[in-house]
Amino acid sequence: MKVTDAEIVISAVSKKQYPSEHIPEIALAGRSNVGKSSFINKLINRKNLARTSSKPGKTQTLNFYKINRSFYFVDVPGYGYAKVSKKEREKWGHMMEEYFETREMLRAVVLITDIRHEPTRDDQQMYDFLKYYDLPVIVIGTKLDKIAKGKRVNYLNRTRQVLEMEAEDVVIPFSAETGEGKDAAWSNLKQYI
Ligand code: GDP
Repeated sequence: MKVTDAEIVISAVSKKQYPSEHIPEIALAGRSNVGKSSFINKLINRKNLARTSSKPGKTQTLNFYKINRSFYFVDVPGYGYAKVSKKEREKWGHMMEEYFETREMLRAVVLITDIRHEPTRDDQQMYDFLKYYDLPVIVIGTKLDKIAKGKRVNYLNRTRQVLEMEAEDVVIPFSAETGEGKDAAWSNLKQYI
């Protein structure tokens, strides 16, 4: 995919701010600090378009990036940060439900995990939540550059097993450092946009 145009359209805090256009959306989810912004920036060839507003302590927003004027990447706030208050967590949950329940044009969700680690309970819950909404999930096992080549298959299988992934969902090894997995990610995402 050749990205010629990428712009942030809105950082939304509630439904009334979501864009009203009928173009496909792909959401991106993952634990705080897992490498979600790096994944987005790598895919769209930008050093810093995806902001780090999902970082703990910052306002939690849904960031709508319009790509090639034809579809949206929707960066949803990271989860699993231990120090977040109960109130913040509830707010996050409400925002997620509001978004996932109402977005007609949402075609698929990219779930970013750290390939080095067993998916966390939060990752599992997120996967189950997405499956509850019947969404195709593309799991990205990022930070591939940090593991030995010979161990890749084992790590990928473990991700599949722990998440109890459905057969039609894919897991793609990826590195924002080397760019490995970028083409595989785009060729998979193409079917949804
Ligand atoms: P986010 O909070 O999920 O958006 O995470 P960031 O994209 O800000 O990344 C968190 C940290 O992980 C940063 O220090 C990144 O440089 C690092 N990081 C992200 N992706 C990779 C990767 O593929 N390989 C390596 N080695 N580091 C990465």
